[in-house]
Amino acid sequence: MTARSVVPLIDNAELMEEERSPTPVSAQSNEANAGYAQIKRRLMFTEIAISLLAPIVFIAVDGSNGLRDLALDITSNNPLAILIYSVVLIGGFTFLTLPLDFYSGHVVEHRFGLSRASVRSWLSDFWKSLALQVLFGVAAIEAIYALINLTDTYWWLIAAGGFIGFFVVMAQLAPVLIMPLFFKFEPAGEGELRDRLLQLADRFNTRVKGVYIWKLGEKTSKSNAALMGFGPTRRVVVADTMIEANTADEIEVVLAHELGHHVNRDIPRLIVVQAIIMVVGFAVIHVALSALSDSFGLRGLDDFANLPLLVLVASLGSLLILPAINGYSRRREHAADVFALEATQRPEDFISAMRSLGEQNLSEEDPNPIMETIFHSHPSLGRRIRFAEQWREERDTAG
Ligand SMILES: [Zn+2]
Repeated sequence: MTARSVVPLIDNAELMEEERSPTPVSAQSNEANAGYAQIKRRLMFTEIAISLLAPIVFIAVDGSNGLRDLALDITSNNPLAILIYSVVLIGGFTFLTLPLDFYSGHVVEHRFGLSRASVRSWLSDFWKSLALQVLFGVAAIEAIYALINLTDTYWWLIAAGGFIGFFVVMAQLAPVLIMPLFFKFEPAGEGELRDRLLQLADRFNTRVKGVYIWKLGEKTSKSNAALMGFGPTRRVVVADTMIEANTADEIEVVLAHELGHHVNRDIPRLIVVQAIIMVVGFAVIHVALSALSDSFGLRGLDDFANLPLLVLVASLGSLLILPAINGYSRRREHAADVFALEATQRPEDFISAMRSLGEQNLSEEDPNPIMETIFHSHPSLGRRIRFAEQWREERDTAG
């Protein structure tokens, strides 16, 4: 359950949504794209299976009750016991999946010539992300059980409200607080790139607070661009790898797509969607936890040993609504593509920018339609390219 405060140009590879490749430049590169996509797909399914099985097994072998008793033996202070319990749980799960994460994020990326990061750099990111998970995870868990102790009837509603507020704040802070922990960003100096975006933004009477170069090239040869932030931190970021591989005309079309998200108010829209999911999601969690917290040796709703159940319900729920969320996201992405084509009137640059993205990211042009429906937040590159071709045809026949 994370808020999307970033609207990237294509699916983030870290989300394991390996998709679209360009029209095959050669049979060899197409094979590499398919091979990469297949490995990433298998890894994604393994990770999903582990995330669903781990809480079930942990409850089944009485591990959760055991860890709760151990924590309460160490301290009779409930919040302190929750701290011990959740640090062990988050740390344990992270180290359980560490080999898989390393294989997916480092070994496979190097095998396909995508990663430029050393093991040391990968490990440094791993520790930083673990620290963030512990920090935010523990805070969330403490808050949830404090609320249950306060009111076991309405805790879920207050929790949903709290999480929504937190996500709105994080949407603003992520580009200045979280993203810089993992990547360097530099304000784009005065010049063609910045001038073009500002002119484009001007034409649509909208203000972009900044254009930043995203120093992705130190870590990967992959490329991306995104609209990040919210309110005062709103900015467009372009990867240095994209600047290296694309013409200024292509980048302008990409920036127009990001501007499209801004003009269409996609980040506020996503926050509203997230808010609805939070309220419904916490209501479901409340019902499930109330029904199950007297079984499996658990001692009621306020027993923090029921956390694996909460996580299981949240994971299952997230998986079930994924096709709807991604369907909505693909529609917003399509709307941004339409905006980019209309604003720039340059379908050729749009198409070549998409092809170049596919080549740099080893994306499949036309992934399995079922995989696309469930897992992809962006239309496949094939679809985006075909739409631009059709758009050009219609414009030319109309003109
Ligand atoms: Zn987009």
